[in-house]
This record gives sequence, C-alpha cells and structure tokens, in this order.
Amino acid sequence: MTASHRVWNFSAGPAALPLSVLERVRAELTDWRGSGMSVMEMSHRGNDFMAIQAKAMGDLRRLLAVPDHYRIVFLQGGGIGEAAIVPLNLTAGRRHADYVNTGHWSTRAIDEARRFCEVGIAASAEDRGFTYVPAQATWRVARDAAYVHVCTNETLGGVEYAAWPDPAALPADVPIVADMSSHMLSRAVDVARFGVIYAGAQKNIGPAGLTLVIVRDDLLDRARDDCPSVFSYAKQAAADSMLNTPPTFAIYVAGLVFEWLEAQGGIAGIERANIAKASLLYATIDCGFYRNDVAPANRSRMNVPFFLPDSRLDDDFLAGAKARGLVQLKGHRVAGGMRASIYNAMPLAGVQALVDYLNQFAREHG
Ligand SMILES: *Cc1c(COP(=O)(O)O)cnc(C)c1O
Repeated sequence: MTASHRVWNFSAGPAALPLSVLERVRAELTDWRGSGMSVMEMSHRGNDFMAIQAKAMGDLRRLLAVPDHYRIVFLQGGGIGEAAIVPLNLTAGRRHADYVNTGHWSTRAIDEARRFCEVGIAASAEDRGFTYVPAQATWRVARDAAYVHVCTNETLGGVEYAAWPDPAALPADVPIVADMSSHMLSRAVDVARFGVIYAGAQKNIGPAGLTLVIVRDDLLDRARDDCPSVFSYAKQAAADSMLNTPPTFAIYVAGLVFEWLEAQGGIAGIERANIAKASLLYATIDCGFYRNDVAPANRSRMNVPFFLPDSRLDDDFLAGAKARGLVQLKGHRVAGGMRASIYNAMPLAGVQALVDYLNQFAREHG
C-alpha cells in the first residue's frame, strides 16, 4: 500500500532502511505494544525501554558472535566523535598511537586524534590515491603504541579490507581499533582480533544518533582522566550505556534491524546477499564504459564508486537515474564521479534496477 513512492536510495548515509522495519515502526509509532505511548516518549529507565535496549544488545551480541570478554556500549557522537573518544579512552599510560591511512575517513580520524596524542602513520595508501589496503607486513607499529587504528571500509573511496588484520603479527599488547561504520553487520567478523570496534549507526544499522562500540574488557582501564564520562567506555559499560539519556528511538529502530537481520539468515545470510549484489554491480562496471579504480581485492561490497568516461555526461546520467527512481548516486564532492552505496537494506532488485540503467546508458552513449 505504501511502497509505491519508495525510490531505490543509494545514499552513503544516512541510508536506506529495510521497508519492513519502517512499516513496523509506523505500526508501533503512537502505541508501542499496548504501552499507550511511543518509544520516543518513554523513560529510558522504565522497564519497557530497558527491555528494548537489553534485547537489542543481546541480539547484536548473538549476530556478531561477540565473545563474553567484550562489552557492547551504545554511545552518541558518531564516527567522527569516536575518532576523538578512542584516544581519550586508550592513551592513559601510552601517549603514542599508530594509524593505517587508507583514505578519507582514516585521515579524518588521524586529524582528530592529533589533538589528544602523538600520532604515527603505520602505513599509508596515499601513494596510489588511496585505492588499496597496504599489506599488514608493511605496517610499522611502535612497540609502545597505545593501539593501531584502521578503517576497514573506506566509505568515500570504496576500499575494504579483504582480510581482517592479524593481531598476532603486531607487537604484543597493541590492540587493533577499527572504524567499521560503513560495513558493520555486512559480513562475518572475528571480533576477537580487535580491541575496539566502532560504528556510527546511520550507514548499515539504523537511524543517525547512535554509535555502537564493542570493547575488550581489559582495555577498560586505559582512559585518561579528562575523558568525559558519557564518552568513557568503562563508565558507560558499568552503567549499561545509561549514564545519560541514550538515543532511545535510534536504539529501538536498530533493534528492529537486528531482528530483520536474523530473519535474513543472520550475518552469513546477509553476507551471501551482499556478495551477490556487489558481484553483479562490479561486473557491469567492468564492461568497458565505466571505471572503478580500486584494487580488485579491496573493492568494497558496500560502497561502489565509479566514473563515466567523460564527466560532462554526469548530469545526464544522474537525471536519467532519478527519472527511474534511482537516487543519491552522485559521488562525494571530494571524489567526483558516482557512488552507489548498497548496504544490507538494499535488495538485489535495487541493484538490478541500477544495473539495467547502467547497461542502457552505456549502450546509448558508448
Ligand atoms: C560516515 C563515516 C564516519 C563519520 O560518521 P559521523 O557519524 O558522521 O561522524 C566515520 N567513518 C566512516 C568509515 C564513515 O563511513
């Protein structure tokens, strides 16, 4: 009844949510399961909301197989907030942190961290325009680094780690901190390899305003005294992420997305679907007319940047796409070109609609 005006939304974030989740939100919007009120209106300390949050955290733990010695915390501040929150939480004893620079979001994290600690560049992909992930064997990580920071999916450049970094190949006791904002829950992840994993919700998890953090227990005592309480992993973990008012509505919607993910076959199921979607799109881009510059092994399954042979065709391309209900395909202003973000909530039918248009446009202009 309502899907008729829905477009295929390829936005990098805030991004499309599963339609069934939105319909559930609408059904429950003014009266959540007989409570007589919206989740937006509930006390965060009431039994109803506490149950919503506990279920969301439990479902997330099961979906990602988060080991028992890790805590899940729900924070605010987004990915860029975390870029500052991470050093505040991990540099009490050690003043130096190393960063692997794979592009725009790594660079933003580095710039933010420099305010709080001494930053080293363990490796950088700048030499080839941030189109690949430097092999871990080439990383230079200080023995006394507080952590090494990676961005495992560069949303702007469309560069994704093909394999998770290996802590055994790093100096002992240097935890890996990963910004997974744009591919969290899109693929299986071996959480035990990481000290901290963080992600803003608005790409692949739920509405903007919620940030997910997964942190290993033994790292909870490394926060500096000047870390604000609401950003302290230890204090928020001890307070069940309710040290202050959490983003209640965003947590509720994220919880519905976790239930939706379970129904897709969990992470294994959604990963299979994501591989199928990305393979179809890259195969079309590789047909000759379009161009993607990322090293094939590091092409992101979530964010697919591509260029037309002549940028003077860009406006025509975007107008034709919009007329077919394919929106938000314009590349980031820094990168130019096009970008299709095909997160979990984008069904194969949406990618197929884009592929059909790509093929038609290439035929007409090739
Ligand atoms: C979007 C994004 C960010 C920034 O997130 P905000 O919530 O806007 O602060 C950081 N890192 C990555 C990888 C992102 O995709």
